[in-house]
Amino acid sequence: MRSMPEDPPGTEVPTHWYNLAADLPEPTPPALNPGTGEPLGPADLAPLFPMALIQQEVSTERWIEIPEPVREIYRLWRPSPLIRAHRLEKALGTPATIFYKYEGVSPTGSHKPNTAVAQAYYNQAEGITKLTTETGAGQWGASLAMACALLGLQCEVWQVRASYDSKPYRRMQMEVYGSVCHPSPSQLTEAGRAMLAADPDTSGSLGMAISEAVEAAVNDPDTHYSLGSVLNHVMLHQSVIGQEALAQLGQVGATADVVFGCAGGGSNLAGLSFPFLGRNLRDGGTTEVVGCEPSACPSLTEGTYRYDFGDVAGLTPLLKMHTLGHDFVPPPIHAGGLRYHGMAPMVSHAVNLGLIRAIAVEQADAFKAGIEFAQAEGIIPAPESTHAVAAAIARARAATTAETIVLGLSGNGVLDLPAYHNFV
Ligand SMILES: *Cc1c(COP(=O)(O)O)cnc(C)c1O
Repeated sequence: MRSMPEDPPGTEVPTHWYNLAADLPEPTPPALNPGTGEPLGPADLAPLFPMALIQQEVSTERWIEIPEPVREIYRLWRPSPLIRAHRLEKALGTPATIFYKYEGVSPTGSHKPNTAVAQAYYNQAEGITKLTTETGAGQWGASLAMACALLGLQCEVWQVRASYDSKPYRRMQMEVYGSVCHPSPSQLTEAGRAMLAADPDTSGSLGMAISEAVEAAVNDPDTHYSLGSVLNHVMLHQSVIGQEALAQLGQVGATADVVFGCAGGGSNLAGLSFPFLGRNLRDGGTTEVVGCEPSACPSLTEGTYRYDFGDVAGLTPLLKMHTLGHDFVPPPIHAGGLRYHGMAPMVSHAVNLGLIRAIAVEQADAFKAGIEFAQAEGIIPAPESTHAVAAAIARARAATTAETIVLGLSGNGVLDLPAYHNFV
């Protein structure tokens, strides 16, 4: 392993991603071709993704090496800190120990660059010149825009209309990185025109924006599509979070009794928790994992576990997941990154197997917890992250023993302050 002289001692970016598929007691049900009903083959995915990512999507190898150019970019902000929340513990008067793994230190303020950089790298390595994608609140669009800027790719983003209008800063961020950002639905794609014809005033949804970005990629051989959550290769790339957290807990001799992560598409929850689940499955560890979703978009706690499309128009493969239905349009809650009708197949499967427990959190309770966290620890959590903060705080308040709680702080909320404004 190469250690840069300017790196603080004892901090290393993981050399491999961890793949939970190697340790699951039963395989995750495969994605299906909607036309044939058969499991997807590489040829089905080739118009959208580079071969390296298609292989990762179906891999059951436990450790997959992180290419050195990706690690070099990770080193700009990784390892991210695992911080003991001493002041929050005191404020709560809890006997529990609380640690938070803080992904808000990335250049775009969330965990999303962990996969954006990997995806941009593999596409560039296979000769692709442009990526398309969708984004909700804009964290994913900004993260992919950054990754494309660093790796010399063009990037075109469809942003859910509600967020495009109400949250201009991340669009501006994408533009600074040299990307183009359109409101979705747009007049630029067939899918978008059909949606606007059906409902000219629609506020849009992630599912609609996915349809547009996929269509744009399929129609250009030099362009691929990139998805910021849900797919197996995204869960894989995010595993750097949990691997670092395990190592950092080990450095202080601590073991996690419970891990909380917020869940929209499932990637930060998977990234933090899968390495812990792997240890549970391999070595008989007992860390409990809790996924925290918004009550307004409760795919894990109220959805059904079945095959469904990832988008509104039905252009994507069929994924076995906890879903509210691909035509579900969630209310415009502030946690834009949690407004998705489905959930990652790997996370859905883990919930179905009883490896992860899911809870739903009300928006008002989430913001109250976010404010409590900010006033104790200084960091203003992303609105998405506040769902996990609320669950962790409730657990710490109820604790009667010195248990160890690990909280995934998936991002910071500095660009989401108007959302907080209604609750202060
Ligand atoms: C996008 C986002 C989420 C939700 O996406 P997941 O795939 O569920 O992680 C959560 N937190 C932050 C800060 C985000 O940007």
